Amino acid sequence: MDRLKREGLGMTSQRTRNRLIQRLREGGIQNEEVLEVMASTPRHLFLDEALAIRAYEDTSLPIGYGQTISQPYIVARMTELLLSRAKSLHRVLEVGTGSGYQTAILARLVEHLCSVERIAPLLGQARSRLRELGIYNVETKVSSEGFGWPEKGPFDAILTAAAPSSIPMELKEQLAPEGVLVIPVGTERQFLTLVTRREDSDRFEVERLEPVRFVPLLSGVIR
Ligand code: SAH
Repeated sequence: MDRLKREGLGMTSQRTRNRLIQRLREGGIQNEEVLEVMASTPRHLFLDEALAIRAYEDTSLPIGYGQTISQPYIVARMTELLLSRAKSLHRVLEVGTGSGYQTAILARLVEHLCSVERIAPLLGQARSRLRELGIYNVETKVSSEGFGWPEKGPFDAILTAAAPSSIPMELKEQLAPEGVLVIPVGTERQFLTLVTRREDSDRFEVERLEPVRFVPLLSGVIR
């Protein structure tokens, strides 16, 4: 890819990106690894050119098909939670690839990432962006029936970028012992929720964290 396009200019420059990182810090994000990866990942490449100038505002933005690229603060918060709570990060699952931005961030912090998306054209775009950025430790697929990717599990951690009305058992079952699931839950009012699988049993601990706003977790595929 063109070096200038990748590095960005003006509203997409490193300087603008650094201002966003400063804002995330002020918002309470403390994990330096997460901040470093976000500082060096060009979010403007995950948006349509017309929206690229807004890439370093701390807001979610449309990516087509009624979906949105997650707000940077939320990406940072969920990633930080995952890193601080998971015992290991060998195999990680992301549900809802969307633009591929969160995927790119996670991929640089975990060993092997599996990511599923129900809207095939979005996944196609995300895949080529990841390739352009030289990210190769990610396996993706258009989600089939059910949630997640059970054949690739169990996972040390699962991050879900779309909200179900209640936590799907299917996703909990894809967790390894001591694995953690970070997921927004709810319809009108949603809360970021952390689920931890007990080491030696099928018991799960559930912690409800701050209010959030995500698109809904849906079943069925769009080709
Ligand atoms: N982190 C992504 C967020 C995209 S929005 C980004 O920053 O771009 C959430 C995505 O979850 C949407 O693309 C939506 O199509 C997808 N999604 C919703 N339900 C899903 C399901 N059951 N399986 C996989 N993806 C799903």
